[in-house]
Amino acid sequence: MRSRAVVLLSGGMDSCVCAALAAHDHDAAAVHISYGQRTEERERKSFLAICDALGIHDRLVIRNEIFRAIGGSALTDPNIAVPESHTLGRQIPVTYVPFRNAHFLAAGVSWAEVLGAEKVYIGAVEQDSSGYPDCRPAYYEAYNNVVRAGTKEGRIQVVTPLIAMRKHEIARLGLELGAPFHLTWSCYSREDSACGVCDSCVLRLRAFREAGADDPIPYAEMARV
Ligand SMILES: [Zn+2]
Repeated sequence: MRSRAVVLLSGGMDSCVCAALAAHDHDAAAVHISYGQRTEERERKSFLAICDALGIHDRLVIRNEIFRAIGGSALTDPNIAVPESHTLGRQIPVTYVPFRNAHFLAAGVSWAEVLGAEKVYIGAVEQDSSGYPDCRPAYYEAYNNVVRAGTKEGRIQVVTPLIAMRKHEIARLGLELGAPFHLTWSCYSREDSACGVCDSCVLRLRAFREAGADDPIPYAEMARV
């Protein structure tokens, strides 16, 4: 019997590659969390389509109400605009959702404990990302200590196979694995076609360009990246 693993799958390009890796090595189960983000319907659609494409049958779609209730992020608060990407500087951008990944990981670890899975995959990326503090390696080391101390057998491990990769390397790896990029959604602000100018779109477009590949999803406009 194949080992089990849980993968957090938002529906974006990084989590899609992460899910392809998890499904390659394990009998994977995928969890998707809607949290009142602007593009939640589109992301959920991507999640389901990616699961179909990767043959992931065990799926958990859950709703987290806290982020919409507290606001404080451009992704969940309609009063804070999603900025166009200008600089990937030192400041944490307004698209940061406060301590979000801890909530997502908690859901993944809880489910892993029920399923008897020993790994929880998350497609966090440190470099070439928006500079969110919950994408840093030190955060995952610390989180794993919490998981060891707070689960029945203490054997579940959160794994971050993409964390040290450059974004164009992730694009290339995904192409090698046959990851269904055409089904993914990364845009922070639009659901019909990707905006092409938010941080997430700009990073993604740059990644595909540097990988020498075409991004298969439609864009409303192309930022000069
Ligand atoms: Zn966008």
